[in-house]
Amino acid sequence: MSRPFPTPPVLAYLLLGSNLGDRAAHLAAARHHLAAGAGAIVAQSGLYETAAWGREDQPAFLNQALAVRTSLSAEKLLAACLAAEQAAGRERAEHWGSRTLDVDILFFGAEICASPALTVPHPQLAGRRFALVPLAEIAPRLRHPQLGLTVAELLARCPDPLPVRPWLGQEPAP
Ligand code: ADP
Ligand code: MG
Repeated sequence: MSRPFPTPPVLAYLLLGSNLGDRAAHLAAARHHLAAGAGAIVAQSGLYETAAWGREDQPAFLNQALAVRTSLSAEKLLAACLAAEQAAGRERAEHWGSRTLDVDILFFGAEICASPALTVPHPQLAGRRFALVPLAEIAPRLRHPQLGLTVAELLARCPDPLPVRPWLGQEPAP
């Protein structure tokens, strides 16, 4: 059934991550995939490198935060994120295992939703420096609808000790 009114676009914040293969190329491919299938990328952070969280015997991750203006529902946006992971050849061998591409939804506007298939705001955001550092670069004043703190405030309080460094490598040509 078609809706009588168009859905107003929502600003969603995504976190891209890769620690297998050509990491920067996987992030670039994800941006192209999402821009084509989810909506315009209106802001993007630089790339940051972080030791693998939870499993420190793995290669380091590159992470990047994006703001995407989307007319998709949260569920359809998640499907687009999972499709971008599939296009990067992601295999889900083990929990927190190495991956060519991970695309997580950090915020979907101010929406709050808690089901196993989709929890937004992302439940681990406040404890993950590798997500908060890139997000704070593009949205420091964005306020968490449940915690009542801005992204900059969450970063200042984040107990995660893993350092998150700007990546100094060369990005692939567009
Ligand atoms: P993780 O990102 O925690 O390492 P996965 O990428 O393997 O784990 O994701 C497993 C599932 O988590 C996805 O298939 C998705 O249904 C679910 N999920 C729940 N909330 C979110 C969210 N905010 N962003 C992305 N995936 C989510
Ligand atoms: Mg994920």
